This record gives sequence, structure tokens and C-alpha cells, in this order.
Amino acid sequence: MIKPEAVAAGNMGKILNMIIDNGYKVIALKYTRLSRQEAGSFYAVHKERPFYGELVDYMASGPIVAAILEKDNAVLGFRDLIGATDPAQAAEGTIRKRFAESKAKNAVHGSDSDENAAIEGAFFFSGREQF
Ligand code: ADP
Ligand code: MG
Repeated sequence: MIKPEAVAAGNMGKILNMIIDNGYKVIALKYTRLSRQEAGSFYAVHKERPFYGELVDYMASGPIVAAILEKDNAVLGFRDLIGATDPAQAAEGTIRKRFAESKAKNAVHGSDSDENAAIEGAFFFSGREQF
């Protein structure tokens, strides 16, 4: 996902370019907005964390770009491309180093396992929207 503040800042195209230039095939793509309820269920694994309410409000605050990406070793490779959660800790050349505003508003989401990637893909896309 490209998160609301990165879309609002006009960085959707640059971020998609970085992803495609790094060899990811776009299987599905959508410009949409999460309701608070949808954002809450997307991030349900974090519901006990102190920042959950803030995270849900933020993720519902404006449109996002959702994508399913394919590449060998995509989950781990994509986490390397996006960089650490906190942009202050993110390596040079990563998406978060370049575009994130803060640890909360950190430009992009990446799935943390193949299992969650399948769940999150199905959250946004029907079978006929996946190529
Ligand atoms: P990641 O997105 O790198 O996998 P997490 O899964 O730990 O990070 O957290 C999910 C999202 O919650 C982060 O991307 C960020 O938007 C937000 N978040 C994480 N930690 C904090 C924090 N301490 N304060 C505010 N928001 C946070
Ligand atoms: Mg995570």
C-alpha cells in the first residue's frame, strides 16, 4: 500500500516507479480509500498496540494505492526496498528514507509474510482484478 500522506504529497507515481524499477511485477493495482472500520480490520494484528487508534485514523484519512506485487523472494525483498518502520532508521535508497514523514506516516506498507500477503491481497482484490 502507498499510504495516505505519500499519496497526498504527490509521491504515488515516484513510489510506483521505484517498485517497478526494482523488478516487481504489478499483479493488481487500485486507488481507493479505507473506512475506519476497514482500516481497523486490515491492522487488527496491532489492536493491542498503543498506536492502534492513531494508525486506524491515519490509514482512513485519505486515499491510498493498494497493489499486489510479484517477484522472487518478494516479501523479504520488498521490506528491504521500503526500509525500516522509522524513516530515521531506514537505509539510504529505501522508499521510506526518501518519502516517509515519520514512524507513523511512513509512506508504504509491505506484507510481513507470504500468508499475510495472500490475506491482504484478497482484502483489496477479487480474482478478476489480479493479472
Ligand atoms: P511495518 O509497517 O514496518 O511492518 P509495524 O507492522 O510494526 O511496521 O507497524 C505497522 C504500522 O504502524 C507502521 O508502518 C506505522 O505506520 C505504524 N506504527 C508502528 N509503530 C508506531 C509507533 N510507535 N507510533 C505510531 N505509529 C506506529
Ligand atoms: Mg508490519
